[in-house]
Amino acid sequence: MKKGIKPFIIPIFIPHAGCPHQCAFCNQKAITGTKENIFSADYIFQHIKNFLNYKGQRNPSQISFFGGTFLGLPAEKIIFLLDIAQEFVRSGQIDNIRFSTRPDSIDSRRLDMISGYSVSDIEIGAQSMENHVLNLSNRGHSVQDTESAVTLLKKRGYRVGLQMMIGLPGETADSPLITATRIANLAPDYVRIYPTVVLKGSPLALWLQKGHYQPLHLDEAVTLTKRIYLFFKSRQIPVIRMGLQASSELDSKKSILAGPYHPAFGHMVFSEIFLDTVSMAIDTLSDVEGQTVEINVHPKNISKMRGLTNKNIFLLTRRFNIQKLKVTAESSLSPESILINRRHTYNIFFDINESAQ
Ligand code: SF4
Repeated sequence: MKKGIKPFIIPIFIPHAGCPHQCAFCNQKAITGTKENIFSADYIFQHIKNFLNYKGQRNPSQISFFGGTFLGLPAEKIIFLLDIAQEFVRSGQIDNIRFSTRPDSIDSRRLDMISGYSVSDIEIGAQSMENHVLNLSNRGHSVQDTESAVTLLKKRGYRVGLQMMIGLPGETADSPLITATRIANLAPDYVRIYPTVVLKGSPLALWLQKGHYQPLHLDEAVTLTKRIYLFFKSRQIPVIRMGLQASSELDSKKSILAGPYHPAFGHMVFSEIFLDTVSMAIDTLSDVEGQTVEINVHPKNISKMRGLTNKNIFLLTRRFNIQKLKVTAESSLSPESILINRRHTYNIFFDINESAQ
C-alpha cells in the first residue's frame, strides 16, 4: 500500500471471539455494541455490501476483522470468515484483508492455514512490553510472545501493526516509554496507542469500585500519548490511531465508568503539539507582550492550533501576556509550518498528513 494513502476500511467486529482470556480492561461488546451473530454469512455479506455503497473512488479498500482474537478462532471459523472476504477480493471490490489478533495466537501452523488468502496486514495487541503489567491485566501472554510473533509475521511478508496501551494496572511512570521503545525496536509498520479506560462489565470496573485501580486523567493521558507519539515519529514509525474509536456506545457514556476517553482524543494530542511548538517559538520573540500576535497555519490545522474550545488561545494569551491572539488560515503554508506575525516560520515535528485522530 502506498505510504500516506488511507485505505477505505470495512470493519467487521468479532467481539471477544477466539479470546482465550478475559483481559482485565476489556469488554468489546461495550465498545462496539455489536449484537448480531457475526458468524452468519448473510449478515456479513450484507454488512460488507452496505459499506461498499459508501466506498466511492477511494482506494485501496480492506475488510478488517477487529475486536477479538482472529487466529484464536477455531480453524473452520477462520476459513469461513476469510472465504467470505476473499470472495470480495476475487470480484475486485476489495483489495485485501486485515485482522487483529493476540501475539500468542500466531504460529506457523495458523499462518500456513491463511497463506492462500489476500491478507496484507496483521495487527497484534501487544498492549505492554513488560511482563508484570501483562500479568496484572490477565493477558495470558508474554513480551517474548509478541517478539516471536512479529518476527514470524515479518518473515512471511505481512505488514505488522502493534497496539499499545497506557495507564494499565502496575505501570510505573517509565512504563509507557519502555513499552514504546521495545515496540519500536521490533520495527512495526505502524502502531496504535490506546489509553486504558474502565469499561462497564470489565474486571477493571470491579477493581475501580474496590479502589484497586485508578485511571489516568484525560490531560495526563493526552500528554503521555503526545510523548509516545513524538517518540515513534523520531523512529519513523507511523502512529495510525490515538484513543479509542468514537462510537455511539462510548459517546453515550453508558459503557465507560472512568478514564481518559474523549471522542477527539487524537485531535487533543495534535493540539498540544501545536501549543508546545508555538510556546517555544513565542518564547524566543521579544516583542509580543501586550501586543496582538497573529499565527498563520495551513487551513486544515486551524482547529488543532486553536485547541478544543479555544484552549490553546486561552493558554498562550495568558502565558505570554498577549493582548490578542489571532489564528488565521494561510493556504500557501505547508501543513507542517507555522508563521508568527508574518515574519517567523517554525516547523512542527510531526506528519500532519497522517490521520491518527
Ligand atoms: S483485549 Fe483482545 S484478547 Fe483480551 S479479551 Fe479483549 S479482544 Fe480478547
